[in-house]
Amino acid sequence: MSRISPPRLPFAARTPGEIALLAAGPAAAAGVLLARWWPSPLEPFCLFHRLTGLPCFTCGAFRCARLLARGRLGEAWLAQPLLATVALAAVALSACAWLALAFRLPLPRRLRLTRRAAIVWGAIGAALAVANWVYLIVTGR
Ligand SMILES: [Zn+2]
Repeated sequence: MSRISPPRLPFAARTPGEIALLAAGPAAAAGVLLARWWPSPLEPFCLFHRLTGLPCFTCGAFRCARLLARGRLGEAWLAQPLLATVALAAVALSACAWLALAFRLPLPRRLRLTRRAAIVWGAIGAALAVANWVYLIVTGR
Protein backbone atom coordinates (compact mmCIF):
# COMPACT_ATOMS: atom_id res chain seq x y z
CA MET A 1 0.00 0.00 0.00
CA SER A 2 1.53 3.28 -1.07
CA ARG A 3 1.32 6.27 1.10
CA ILE A 4 0.63 9.70 -0.40
CA SER A 5 2.39 12.53 1.36
CA PRO A 6 0.46 15.77 1.82
CA PRO A 7 1.51 18.70 -0.38
CA ARG A 8 4.28 20.75 1.13
CA LEU A 9 3.64 24.47 1.42
CA PRO A 10 6.26 26.59 -0.38
CA PHE A 11 7.51 28.30 2.76
CA ALA A 12 7.04 25.45 5.23
CA ALA A 13 10.26 24.43 6.98
CA ARG A 14 12.46 26.48 4.68
CA THR A 15 15.73 28.05 5.68
CA PRO A 16 16.02 31.86 5.65
CA GLY A 17 18.28 31.60 2.59
CA GLU A 18 15.69 29.57 0.67
CA ILE A 19 12.91 31.97 1.64
CA ALA A 20 15.07 34.93 0.55
CA LEU A 21 15.77 33.25 -2.79
CA LEU A 22 12.08 32.51 -3.35
CA ALA A 23 10.97 35.98 -2.24
CA ALA A 24 13.62 37.99 -4.15
CA GLY A 25 11.84 37.77 -7.51
CA PRO A 26 8.34 38.64 -6.30
CA ALA A 27 9.81 41.46 -4.16
CA ALA A 28 11.72 42.91 -7.14
CA ALA A 29 8.66 42.58 -9.36
CA ALA A 30 6.48 44.26 -6.72
CA GLY A 31 8.94 47.15 -6.45
CA VAL A 32 9.01 47.61 -10.21
CA LEU A 33 5.21 47.52 -10.44
CA LEU A 34 4.90 49.94 -7.51
CA ALA A 35 7.15 52.39 -9.38
CA ARG A 36 5.11 51.84 -12.54
CA TRP A 37 1.90 52.97 -10.93
CA TRP A 38 3.36 55.48 -8.48
CA PRO A 39 1.64 58.87 -8.99
CA SER A 40 3.87 61.32 -10.87
CA PRO A 41 3.31 64.27 -8.48
CA LEU A 42 4.75 62.09 -5.69
CA GLU A 43 7.88 60.98 -7.54
CA PRO A 44 10.85 60.79 -5.18
CA PHE A 45 13.63 63.33 -5.45
CA CYS A 46 17.26 63.04 -4.43
CA LEU A 47 18.35 65.38 -1.66
CA PHE A 48 22.03 64.61 -2.34
CA HIS A 49 21.58 65.57 -6.00
CA ARG A 50 19.77 68.79 -5.07
CA LEU A 51 22.46 69.79 -2.59
CA THR A 52 25.55 68.83 -4.58
CA GLY A 53 24.44 68.78 -8.21
CA LEU A 54 25.89 65.26 -8.44
CA PRO A 55 23.89 62.05 -8.56
CA CYS A 56 24.08 59.74 -5.56
CA PHE A 57 24.83 56.10 -6.26
CA THR A 58 21.11 55.21 -6.27
CA CYS A 59 20.00 58.08 -8.52
CA GLY A 60 17.97 56.85 -11.44
CA ALA A 61 16.59 53.88 -9.52
CA PHE A 62 12.99 55.08 -9.72
CA ARG A 63 13.29 55.84 -13.45
CA CYS A 64 14.98 52.46 -13.94
CA ALA A 65 12.15 50.64 -12.15
CA ARG A 66 9.55 52.44 -14.26
CA LEU A 67 11.40 51.53 -17.46
CA LEU A 68 11.75 47.90 -16.34
CA ALA A 69 8.00 47.78 -15.74
CA ARG A 70 7.44 48.93 -19.31
CA GLY A 71 9.84 46.29 -20.64
CA ARG A 72 12.36 48.90 -21.82
CA LEU A 73 15.34 46.96 -20.53
CA GLY A 74 18.05 48.79 -22.45
CA GLU A 75 16.89 52.21 -21.30
CA ALA A 76 16.47 50.89 -17.77
CA TRP A 77 20.04 49.61 -17.79
CA LEU A 78 21.33 52.96 -19.06
CA ALA A 79 19.38 54.78 -16.32
CA GLN A 80 20.77 52.68 -13.44
CA PRO A 81 22.97 49.75 -14.52
CA LEU A 82 23.47 48.29 -11.06
CA LEU A 83 19.82 48.30 -10.05
CA ALA A 84 18.67 46.96 -13.42
CA THR A 85 21.19 44.11 -13.22
CA VAL A 86 20.35 43.27 -9.60
CA ALA A 87 16.58 43.39 -10.23
CA LEU A 88 16.76 41.20 -13.33
CA ALA A 89 19.14 38.76 -11.63
CA ALA A 90 16.83 38.56 -8.61
CA VAL A 91 13.85 37.75 -10.83
CA ALA A 92 15.82 35.17 -12.84
CA LEU A 93 17.32 33.42 -9.80
CA SER A 94 14.00 33.44 -8.01
CA ALA A 95 12.24 32.00 -11.06
CA CYS A 96 14.80 29.18 -11.09
CA ALA A 97 14.14 28.58 -7.40
CA TRP A 98 10.37 28.45 -7.98
CA LEU A 99 10.87 26.00 -10.84
CA ALA A 100 13.10 23.86 -8.64
CA LEU A 101 10.39 23.93 -6.00
CA ALA A 102 7.72 22.95 -8.56
CA PHE A 103 9.80 19.99 -9.73
CA ARG A 104 10.81 19.03 -6.19
CA LEU A 105 14.49 19.69 -6.81
CA PRO A 106 16.69 20.75 -3.90
CA LEU A 107 17.35 24.43 -3.33
CA PRO A 108 20.70 25.65 -2.03
CA ARG A 109 20.12 25.60 1.72
CA ARG A 110 22.85 27.96 2.76
CA LEU A 111 25.56 29.92 1.05
CA ARG A 112 28.83 29.09 2.73
CA LEU A 113 31.71 31.38 1.97
CA THR A 114 35.17 31.25 3.39
CA ARG A 115 36.40 34.45 4.99
CA ARG A 116 38.62 35.10 2.01
CA ALA A 117 35.77 34.51 -0.49
CA ALA A 118 33.49 36.83 1.50
CA ILE A 119 36.14 39.56 1.38
CA VAL A 120 36.65 39.07 -2.36
CA TRP A 121 32.89 39.14 -3.10
CA GLY A 122 32.46 42.16 -0.84
CA ALA A 123 35.25 43.96 -2.70
CA ILE A 124 33.68 43.04 -6.06
CA GLY A 125 30.30 44.36 -4.88
CA ALA A 126 31.86 47.59 -3.61
CA ALA A 127 33.79 48.02 -6.87
CA LEU A 128 30.60 47.53 -8.89
CA ALA A 129 28.76 50.08 -6.72
CA VAL A 130 31.57 52.62 -7.20
CA ALA A 131 31.74 51.92 -10.96
CA ASN A 132 27.96 52.43 -11.14
CA TRP A 133 28.26 55.73 -9.28
CA VAL A 134 31.09 56.94 -11.54
CA TYR A 135 28.96 56.00 -14.55
CA LEU A 136 26.04 58.05 -13.20
CA ILE A 137 28.29 61.05 -12.54
CA VAL A 138 30.07 60.88 -15.91
CA THR A 139 26.85 60.45 -17.91
CA GLY A 140 25.03 63.07 -15.83
CA ARG A 141 22.09 60.81 -15.07
ZN1 LIG B 1 20.23 60.23 -5.75
